[in-house]
Amino acid sequence: MAEATLPTQIQLDIVTPDRLAARDDVTAVTIPGKDGYLGILPGHAPLLTELAPGELKYSAGGAEHALAVDWGFAEVLPDRVIVLAQTAERAEDIDVERAEKAKERAEERLKRFTDPEVDMERAQEALRRAIARLETAKKIQG
Ligand code: ATP
Repeated sequence: MAEATLPTQIQLDIVTPDRLAARDDVTAVTIPGKDGYLGILPGHAPLLTELAPGELKYSAGGAEHALAVDWGFAEVLPDRVIVLAQTAERAEDIDVERAEKAKERAEERLKRFTDPEVDMERAQEALRRAIARLETAKKIQG
């Protein structure tokens, strides 16, 4: 019987509705799943998870990469990870000032919790997105 060989790399695709945000052969990937961060190495058992806004990290060619992702899904296979995200920005492309303003706006809205005009859920989602962008950018943009 032929011996099964474990993959040593993962082909990672990060896709948003309007573009391919990243495609790389990676040796490890960390996904912000709905129930917490998931560390994936080549040969991982197949799974499907919903994403939560956060930082998606991966190692490729000896370098670490990070993207801020929003809501979406990730499919994990032993040699392939496909991430379908509503939005995804590479750490180096994040506009920190814009994310800070979005965070302030969301926080102001959340303070007005008695105001029926304010959609609390929407404000909370905007706040989570802004925090994910700021956390992701912080490590490389200082
Ligand atoms: P804002 O209120 O600043 O628009 P938002 O969270 O409402 O923030 P989204 O609707 O999540 O923005 O994203 C709209 C588009 O803008 C997406 O393509 C997303 O990748 C991009 N984007 C949003 N914020 C930033 C940012 N701080 N830096 C880079 N791209 C961003």
